[in-house]
Amino acid sequence: MGAAGSKAHRLERALGAGFPENEHVFGLENFGNTCYCNSVLQALFYCQPLRDKCLEYRMSGLAQDGNDDGLLTSLCELFFSISSQKKRCGVLAPRQFISKLRAENELFNNHMHQESDAHEFLNYLLNEVAEQLEKNEKAKSKDAAGNHVATGGPSSEWSARVASDSMSDDEEERQAAYQCKTWIHSIFEGVLTNDTRCLSCETVTSREESFLDLSLEIEQDSSLNACMRNFSSIESLRGDNKFFCDNCCSLQEAKKRMRIKRLPNVLALHLKRFKYIEQLGRFKKLSYKVAFPLELELDNIASDMPEPDRRYRLFAVIVHMGSGPNHGHYFALVRSHQHWLCFDDDSVDIIEESQIESCFGNAQETQASTETGYLLFYQSEASILSSHTDSDSQISAENSTATAATANNSPSPSPSEKIKGRIGPKVSVGVKRLAKVSTPKRLA
Ligand SMILES: [Zn+2]
Repeated sequence: MGAAGSKAHRLERALGAGFPENEHVFGLENFGNTCYCNSVLQALFYCQPLRDKCLEYRMSGLAQDGNDDGLLTSLCELFFSISSQKKRCGVLAPRQFISKLRAENELFNNHMHQESDAHEFLNYLLNEVAEQLEKNEKAKSKDAAGNHVATGGPSSEWSARVASDSMSDDEEERQAAYQCKTWIHSIFEGVLTNDTRCLSCETVTSREESFLDLSLEIEQDSSLNACMRNFSSIESLRGDNKFFCDNCCSLQEAKKRMRIKRLPNVLALHLKRFKYIEQLGRFKKLSYKVAFPLELELDNIASDMPEPDRRYRLFAVIVHMGSGPNHGHYFALVRSHQHWLCFDDDSVDIIEESQIESCFGNAQETQASTETGYLLFYQSEASILSSHTDSDSQISAENSTATAATANNSPSPSPSEKIKGRIGPKVSVGVKRLAKVSTPKRLA
């Protein structure tokens, strides 16, 4: 532990006095192919609205009521454990979380075999936690109503999905369904709308679906914005792929378009780098260069939204290195209080912001580097401002029961109008031009 101790000490010094006294930077021990999990946990820990909610949940005592909360409790305990360390830097062993994860899902019980997919894990974790919160909520309202409330079947679906499937299209009902969702939804959930226009009768059929993260197809030497635009491009349905129009009562040629109808507070993006190749009978990694900006603006991509000007800041990147989904290694680049940190299991280093560029991918297939941005986490500027105001007064964990909640998770009336003037000049779409770095320290 001597070497680790002195490393933590060096990191502590490097962070300097400007780094908040109550902020913690802890590497996570690897338990055998658990870097997919460690990297995602680090990204989520530095997702301030999520961290606030987890700490609040733990302080609420719900976690200790003897509930078998599954991963929810384990996650909150881990975040609490990091936040309540006496030292600012060090290494923790997420032992309880990992054994819970392995017990809950065979897919992640992999220590003898191979690496799991970080995106699969992220998606699983968010859904599990949301589901558990919904269960708790239902149990609570059942108690309150003296067991008179019908539970309405299995609660394994997101509330928004339940709304669109089992209810009519009535907007009021849908809104009501949105209100009973969890804090996972209020942080990560966005809504897509899928519009299909029949070319024969011009009827537009709209279908909505919610998402906690978005998966994007990627192309060589492109940008995140190009991928987003591609995601929303118009698709022709014809030939074998015609659309059944309810109005015409027959298969018709149609145009389909997917758009984001409501943006989340935290936008989690998954670049689809693992592609199944029929001929090979396995997944191949696409190391394509996909440039992603530090500041993302989506106004030209999904236009008819309540807040078309929502701007985002990058706060975490999960980088995959290696040749395939089950081979290789994950680490996380995370932004915390003006510093970018590289969390590589138990090792943590400060990196230059400009080094992020080295994880865009390769413009030529022949290039050797395989370190590629895989999951990207953006937080909306409006929610950053509101959570900062909030977290300044927060986190002496012991007395923070009443904090959290915050405006950052109210999806509808946005504070963005109010704070517009404070953000400064409009940032344009695209990659912020950074000085080229010759050899990134850690990534060399
Ligand atoms: Zn039609």
